[in-house]
Amino acid sequence: MSKVILAGYNVDAEVLADIVKSAEGDWDLTPETLSAAYARISRDARPVDELRQIARADVAKTRRQNERIVFGLGHHSVAEHAVFNFDLINISRLAIEYLESHRLASYTEKSQRYIRLDSDFLIPEEWQQAGLKDELKDFILYCFERYEVVLEKLKSNGIDEKLAGEDARYMLPLAAFGQLGMTLNARSLEYMILRLAASPLKESREIASKLLDAARPIAPSLLRYMDPTPYHTERFEDTHNTLNQLMSHHPAPDPVPAPVPAPYEVALLDFTTDGDSRILAALAQHFIGGSFSKVQDWIDAIGNEGRLQLFNAITRKMSIHDAVPREFEHGIMTFEVIMSAAAFAQFKRHRMTSITWNPYDPDLGLTVPKAITDAGLQDELLLINNKATKLANKMGMKHPATPYVWTNAHRRRVLITLNLREMYHMSRLREDESAQWDIRQLVGQMSELARQVFPICAGFLGGKDQFPK
Ligand SMILES: Cc1cc2nc3c(=O)[nH]c(=O)nc-3n(C[C@H](O)[C@H](O)[C@H](O)COP(=O)(O)OP(=O)(O)OC[C@H]3O[C@@H](n4cnc5c(N)ncnc54)[C@H](O)[C@@H]3O)c2cc1C
Repeated sequence: MSKVILAGYNVDAEVLADIVKSAEGDWDLTPETLSAAYARISRDARPVDELRQIARADVAKTRRQNERIVFGLGHHSVAEHAVFNFDLINISRLAIEYLESHRLASYTEKSQRYIRLDSDFLIPEEWQQAGLKDELKDFILYCFERYEVVLEKLKSNGIDEKLAGEDARYMLPLAAFGQLGMTLNARSLEYMILRLAASPLKESREIASKLLDAARPIAPSLLRYMDPTPYHTERFEDTHNTLNQLMSHHPAPDPVPAPVPAPYEVALLDFTTDGDSRILAALAQHFIGGSFSKVQDWIDAIGNEGRLQLFNAITRKMSIHDAVPREFEHGIMTFEVIMSAAAFAQFKRHRMTSITWNPYDPDLGLTVPKAITDAGLQDELLLINNKATKLANKMGMKHPATPYVWTNAHRRRVLITLNLREMYHMSRLREDESAQWDIRQLVGQMSELARQVFPICAGFLGGKDQFPK
């Protein structure tokens, strides 16, 4: 008979500390025993609950075993059985971008949409060292003051508090503080600490050492290799130098962009050219059998009507909560999108996409919320942009700490590769009426392009509110 045993679950660290305090004897509470027991499964036939007991009985021995298996033998996935939760308080929006670029983790972040923001922000050490601390502080205080003014003006124009706050925050810089809850396993944590420790941002490096200080005493055997190697610290500079050399022989394309239509530009660069028939053939292959290419030939032969019938059979009983089948992952698209920092903050949360991005670039212009333009307040944002650009020039446009001055309205280029299954997921959430207008319009444009290249299989793209249609 099958047996399922609850072997562990995460509990608030303060509760655990209270339990340890009130309990008799020495308690070494650690998730390492779970990792060690699971590591032994592959070579020890005893039931896993017994292996857990053995691991708990001698934690020091268990730690040595973990080190040997995880790092000696390279069985790294074992570290994924140990999970941590972190409260991250007073982290700048810029550092949150660095942090959340790690996809194998769960984040829940203070929303700048739903919460009216106080003037809580970071003065980064890099700016102090450059002798620009006071100028930066004056600028950020100015942004927060104008945020309040714009928010109140939008409200007095009849816009409700939530929507007014949602748009007024385009005035705020990336030095503004956020907070988040983060959950991740020891393997992801180790990698995150390594990457943050190699970051050009002092704030990120400090976060790395705080994460390490908090987690290492709990699971020392699973957190070992976090010192950045030259691969992590020098790769960026090496690449840059090589590109400079190459550009001395082959001049680079003109970096000045053509005028970019507001609020963004969405370009579909590449896609699976036979996406519809590929996805449908992958679905049919399971039933028909035989090689993929023969099934795809058959799908091509049944004509559009036949392909539509098949698509309808697949989607007819789908509800708003259902994901499209995995076979939709065989249709792949690459987009280049110019988006605001506000949109990027939301977009990057879609962990199943492959995204890379350029630094924020003031030459790409600003995303100005329509409510701000309608209220004749766009000059407020333009003034902030002028001040930010002046400060950025003083600090150096390419200095890694310069982006603290860019606002939620500033824009960057983002390269996105995703499959049609993730596109469906994103479209359901982000094209819904509850979604924020910036990302909603952006994802709407992506969906429109997806429908052109996958006319059958992308047919059901749209927000949750559109689903009944
Ligand atoms: C209207 C709206 C308001 C929001 N407000 C906030 C907010 O206030 N604060 C905030 O932090 N975020 C907010 N979000 C972001 C939201 O919580 C998600 O992070 C974001 O929409 C990405 O969705 P996802 O995690 O489902 O997508 P992806 O990361 O792209 O994942 C796709 C799917 O893969 C699966 N998946 C991925 N990773 C995991 C995992 N680790 N465990 C289990 N399944 C996984 C899930 O099925 C998921 O739906 C909001 C989103 C919307 C649409």
